[in-house]
Amino acid sequence: MGELLSVDLARKKLLGNFTRLGGELVKIDEALDRILAEDIIAPSGLPRFDNSAVDGFAVLSEDLRLASLDAPVKLPVVADIPAGKPADTVLKNGQAMRIMTGAPIPEGADAVVPVEDTNFKSRSPKVITPTTVDIYNSPKIGENIRIKGEDIKAGTHIYQQGEVLRPQDIGFIASFGTEFVKVYRRPRVAIFSSGDEIIPVGESLLPGKIFDSNGLILQALIKKHGGDCINLGIASDRFEDVKNKLDQAAERKVDLIISSAGVSVGAFDYVRHVIEAYGSLGFWRVNMRPGKPLVFGSYSDIPFIGLPGNPVSAFVGFLIFIRPAISKLAGLPEVLMESVQVKLGEDIKSDGRESYLRGHVKEINGEYVAFLTGHQGSGNLYAMVQANALIIIPSGVESLPTNSKVDAWII
Ligand code: AMP
Ligand code: MG
Repeated sequence: MGELLSVDLARKKLLGNFTRLGGELVKIDEALDRILAEDIIAPSGLPRFDNSAVDGFAVLSEDLRLASLDAPVKLPVVADIPAGKPADTVLKNGQAMRIMTGAPIPEGADAVVPVEDTNFKSRSPKVITPTTVDIYNSPKIGENIRIKGEDIKAGTHIYQQGEVLRPQDIGFIASFGTEFVKVYRRPRVAIFSSGDEIIPVGESLLPGKIFDSNGLILQALIKKHGGDCINLGIASDRFEDVKNKLDQAAERKVDLIISSAGVSVGAFDYVRHVIEAYGSLGFWRVNMRPGKPLVFGSYSDIPFIGLPGNPVSAFVGFLIFIRPAISKLAGLPEVLMESVQVKLGEDIKSDGRESYLRGHVKEINGEYVAFLTGHQGSGNLYAMVQANALIIIPSGVESLPTNSKVDAWII
């Protein structure tokens, strides 16, 4: 019989078998939520050239020192500068050029007067550029000019490897013209369910059968945590069928294989036996509730985790063991779930194993208070669905009165 490991030791043993995957180049428009495998240094400054912050008139500020609403200064408009096209002449003393937001500041100009401060309020490109403009305001040097490099200087260290790319990062990196970034490869995770009673959604239900929930829970969790899931479907309760799924996973050269069910001591629980016979077994029992029978080992040198069949156990097992393993493969720091301290809103019984109870945490008078949701049986997924937290009862504790302080994972 395998020893009963503590959750902490089991997780340590398991995580010791995972290392970060290599990097790959992806197009910037496919890099959202990916993890950088390189540092990024600004290859240029931004903006790249002085440009106008408003629609208006580029001028020389010294020409307008005395301009006001009562005494406008009239200037000839010698050019029209749309965004995307630099002026081909230099602005001289006593001249103005109409300019649009984002257009390059012409040589010679040192300020832009917004259209609002002139007698020419129209922004429409259809309106012909006026030959003269009356200016009602005296701009300061540099007014309404976005200076080259004001956002960022070339050579600034922007990103460190390991950072996760957000939408604003994608746009920012693209603004340097960078088309590809190096990110860590996404972990490829094969999953299969097992059990003669399990049928896929979409098929018709026969007496004694149930639909496969675990496969879909795992698929969603893997996706949510940045992995690519290869769902191999359902193995029947036969040694050969379980082995066959493992062979399929090995053929696909995945980074991790996960199964659910068939890991207990039932007459038809073959998963552990196949791993013992054809792979290598690390451990198979953890001192936790739900989910004591949990197999860790390898098959074809690929790490293997056999989760229990009860959906709540499979879910909890994923959060405890697989989530940090995927993070490690993906190049993220090995972060555990964030835990908060809560006060029990009711008396709680446990059986001495480290327990992850389905609960609802709410704030009452500035304190987090936890209540159990529904029936705590590990097959009861609805109690999990109603929960917003897993309330953790440490190992060795069999009962806790109302108001006791415990840790909880917010889920
Ligand atoms: P086992 O570990 O095979 O004894 O399964 C434990 C319990 O989990 C049994 O009640 C199974 O019917 C149930 N179970 C196993 N696999 C699944 C699955 N994929 N979806 C939902 N329930 C499952
Ligand atoms: Mg079974």
